[in-house]
Amino acid sequence: MPESLVVGLPKSRVVVDAERCKGCDLCVVVCPQRNLHLSERFNRMGYHPVEFRYHGGRGDCTACGLCYWVCPDFAITEVSRLRP
Ligand code: SF4
Ligand code: SF4
Repeated sequence: MPESLVVGLPKSRVVVDAERCKGCDLCVVVCPQRNLHLSERFNRMGYHPVEFRYHGGRGDCTACGLCYWVCPDFAITEVSRLRP
């Protein structure tokens, strides 16, 4: 596919299991691209779970995996690169 057709499409994605998340903020702080933020809604445990945005405050997710490794509750269930 020509590069011009894929500009704007996300390169990477992160999947969060909102019901496992206790809103501790560790992944939010560690993300270099600022792709993660605490939601305003509550999960079943009464925490504000983390949500992922493809386009963060400092750029797109790079699939670096830092959020996956820092989460003590295994709430980050997938970090994947969608295209080169
Ligand atoms: S994989 Fe890296 S860039 Fe993407 S959300 Fe996690 S910490 Fe941020
Ligand atoms: S590190 Fe894990 S438990 Fe803490 S806010 Fe991030 S996803 Fe939720």
